[in-house]
Parts: sequence; structure tokens; C-alpha cells
Amino acid sequence: MKPILALDFGGTKLAAALVNPGEREWWRYERCLSPMNADASTDLEIMRSLIHSLLQGTTPSAIGVSFGGPVDATTGTVKLSHHVPGWENIPLQDLLTAEFGVPTTVDNDANVAALGEYRFGAGQGYDSLFYITISTGVGGGWVLNGKPWRGASGMAGEIGHMVVDPSGPLCLCGKQGCVERLASGPYMAQNARDILANRAKLHHGTILKNLVADDLNSLTGKLVSEAAAQGDDIAQAVLQKSAWALGVGIGNVANLINPQRFILGGSVTKASASWWSVVQKTARETALPEVSLEIVPAALGDDAPLWGAVALSGQ
Ligand code: ADP
Ligand code: ZN
Repeated sequence: MKPILALDFGGTKLAAALVNPGEREWWRYERCLSPMNADASTDLEIMRSLIHSLLQGTTPSAIGVSFGGPVDATTGTVKLSHHVPGWENIPLQDLLTAEFGVPTTVDNDANVAALGEYRFGAGQGYDSLFYITISTGVGGGWVLNGKPWRGASGMAGEIGHMVVDPSGPLCLCGKQGCVERLASGPYMAQNARDILANRAKLHHGTILKNLVADDLNSLTGKLVSEAAAQGDDIAQAVLQKSAWALGVGIGNVANLINPQRFILGGSVTKASASWWSVVQKTARETALPEVSLEIVPAALGDDAPLWGAVALSGQ
């Protein structure tokens, strides 16, 4: 039996893997970081070289692809990437089908990761789940009645741009107080930076300032969570707001759709036990008491999109 080829075009990294049908471990696996000034053609070139070093002359039976950006899943055409220029309207499915001569399926990374968790991870045995990734951005993907639910124009699951604080800070999408604007790693860094730049709080946030040697531009979400763990008051407030925003979003989604499970992945979920408990508590307070609510960590970690790509390929 021929292996399945799974591809993951992420915002910062590219990964490719081969698995034999029915197996739960990669046969071969390759991954590398995107270069700093990557565009669609450099990403495609790097992915081609990963694929060739994986295949070594063999032919896969099918290709499944996770793409980090909006995709028209009916045609497998990438709409654009928010991180890498040049992806506008690239017919990725057609390109790969023509190049490798096998059936190829392409979908957005959150949808694909949801499918991966459903088939191989924390969603096994649940036929309705919402997967949320909280990382550089915040995105979500649905599995309903055991199938991906993409919505009328493929945009279902955009919890990142659900407004939870209408008078909150301005988001890249043009609205105020979106979940992503408060919960994502880069926005947590920005929120901490904004508070630190406020003179009224001069004597606060000293642990955070020390961690970056007073260079506020080098602040990251990860550093915010490290400073919070060391007791920094500003970092704790920022992290708490991130968890609160996500919890409100999840509680509202629970009221509306009531899936069996919410599965949370992405680097920000590594923050701390208290981040998790604020998410749980806020979601519980936002959902009606009669609405069942289960929020669990993703099981597949960084490999969720690749395993989802395997599932997407029909395996
Ligand atoms: P990506 O998942 O987009 O490839 P990373 O995993 O490196 O990138 O980080 C995504 C975002 O999550 C960054 O803003 C980073 O600072 C943040 N992040 C990483 N680890 C943690 C953590 N333990 N707590 C909070 N935020 C984190
Ligand atoms: Zn937004």
C-alpha cells in the first residue's frame, strides 16, 4: 500500500510527513522554518524539497494539505496568507495534483487541526467539537456530526474576531475588543507594552521590564507568561485578560452550538494552570447553567495539522 503525504504550510514553518495507511506514527518526517522574507514561491520551493527528500522516488496514494490562511476548500484554492505575501488566489490543490499526479485535498489549518484532533487526538469518540488555536492568531475549526463544518463561505469558526469587549482595544480586523486582540501571544505582548509605557504605572511591571532589559520591543507573549509566573503584576493582569476574553468567547459559543468538547491548542495554552482555570471559570460563568461544557487541551500538539491532513486525504 502506498503512503499518504501530509503537508503543513504554517505561518512560520513548513512541515511534511509520510504515513502508511492505518498507522499512527510517521514513517518519515521533515520540517523547517520559513525564511524571514518568505513569499509563496519560496515556501513552495522549500516544500518541494522537503517532499522530494521524503518520497525518495516513491509515489504517495494521496496528498492532504493544511494551509495557514483562508482557503476555498471546494476547489483547494488559497485565498491569501496573513503572514506570507504572494499567496493570493494560488490554486494549491491543482498545482500539487498536476505535479504529483495523485488526489490532493487542501483546507485551512484550524479546520484541518480540528479534523486531526477528531480522528487521532482529544476529539476521538466525540462527534461535535470545536478546536481553537491560541497562538500568533486565534482561530477555530468545527467538526459537527462527525464532519467538518466550514460555513456558507468557508469562514465558520472565526472565534478570534468575536467581540467580547466592544470598547476594548482596536484589532487588526478593524473592530474593538476581539478575542484575538486580547488573547493572542503578540497582542498580549502589545498590551503589556502599552501598560508599561503608561507613566502612572511606573513602579509596576518590574519583573517584566527586567526580563527584556528595558527593551519593550522585545516583549513576547511567552515572556509575559514567564513574568506572570514570577509574580509580575502587569503580566498577570494581561494574561488574565487573555484567558477571560477566550472564556467569554467559549461560553458564548457553548450557548449557541453546545458542542460536546472544546479542544484548545497553540502555544499560548502552555501559559500556566491559572490561565487555564480563568478560561474554564469564565466560560462556565458565561454559558447558561444547563449548557454542558467541557474544555480540554489538544493532544496532538504541533502535529495536529499534519494528522488532520492525513484525515483530510480520506484516510
Ligand atoms: P507559532 O505557533 O505561530 O509557530 P510560537 O509557537 O513560537 O509560534 O508562538 C506563538 C505565540 O505564542 C507567540 O506570540 C509566543 O510569544 C506565544 N507563546 C509561546 N509560548 C507561550 C507561553 N508559554 N505562554 C504564553 N504565550 C506563549
Ligand atoms: Zn478582530
